Amino acid sequence: MTHGKTISNTGRSTFTMPDGRMLHLYGAYSGTPAWPLGAELHERDFSHRRWHPVRREWVVYSAHRQTRTYKPASNTCPLCPEASDGEVPVKDFSIAVFDNRFSSFQKTCPKPDPIPGLDLSVDSAAGNCEVVVYSADHKASMSTLSQDRRELLVKVWGDRVRALMRMPAVQAVMPFENRGEEAGVTLHHPHGQIYAFSYLPPVIETMAQSFREGYELSKLTSSAMHEIAQAESMAALVPPFARFPYEVWIVPKRFRPSPGDLGENEVKDCARLLALVAKKYDIFFKRACPYVMIVYVAPRGMEEYFPFHIQFYPLLRTPQKLKFLAGCELGAGSFLADLVPEEAARSLRDLRLEDIP
Ligand SMILES: [Zn+2]
Repeated sequence: MTHGKTISNTGRSTFTMPDGRMLHLYGAYSGTPAWPLGAELHERDFSHRRWHPVRREWVVYSAHRQTRTYKPASNTCPLCPEASDGEVPVKDFSIAVFDNRFSSFQKTCPKPDPIPGLDLSVDSAAGNCEVVVYSADHKASMSTLSQDRRELLVKVWGDRVRALMRMPAVQAVMPFENRGEEAGVTLHHPHGQIYAFSYLPPVIETMAQSFREGYELSKLTSSAMHEIAQAESMAALVPPFARFPYEVWIVPKRFRPSPGDLGENEVKDCARLLALVAKKYDIFFKRACPYVMIVYVAPRGMEEYFPFHIQFYPLLRTPQKLKFLAGCELGAGSFLADLVPEEAARSLRDLRLEDIP
């Protein structure tokens, strides 16, 4: 069954895919989604999670992900419009969001059976994984999207967070983008993802504790030594305690729990700074810089003190050298950095861009 519904204030049209997944088209699009025969037969499988009693954290098992699409040629990209067996079967679109076919978390997820002979906590991997396609253009990137499109992306994050938080099981929602093969990207079409967790992942839990106990993120926005760029309502900065050599955060000057709570001017500033950071990385490293970008949003019940902000972890130390997580980082959880954040901030700040919109 395919049905479309346009919601005028967000410009969102929602469709049910033949295999039961949802597709949301934000902004303008052309054509009516038409999936090929057989698309209803996509196999779905359930994940589960197990408690790691030594590290005290959940590990999610989704064996079906091993068969997911791996680096297809550009003429078979499933995120391009009208691709055969593609995920967004319209002529053109602005931003498309759909349930990941190879999802680690599922909206309806049965409780798994205990593992025989083992005293191990197991639970369902309830939640959801969505894919956010930034553009119909296979070659676009965060730095080349138009300002309008990036503003729409910030609004899409807000709208998806709101929608996913309506699922009773969901405790935390995290939009993110992995860019480049070094970040494990299997599809090069510009896209990010959104994970909705039915538990608090350990990093978000630790952050929540800091914010609950009164750490104020916005005070970072007034340090001239660490700023990369200032907008009226937000700053891009290297945090004085950065773990990655050229880590950059985008931080609102006023507390906001979610991108959905930003005013029009804040959305504009956020979109401008996203482009500025992505462009500076590409110019500074003289190549398409691989990075992981995380959009942190207040988890359920923490809307009073957990601030929305964005963290970029570029995976390069120099144009040729990757920043690897190895013995000390993985084994001890202690990051070793080769340069101090003030120096990284100065290098990125001094880099001049001619064409930031
Ligand atoms: Zn593509």
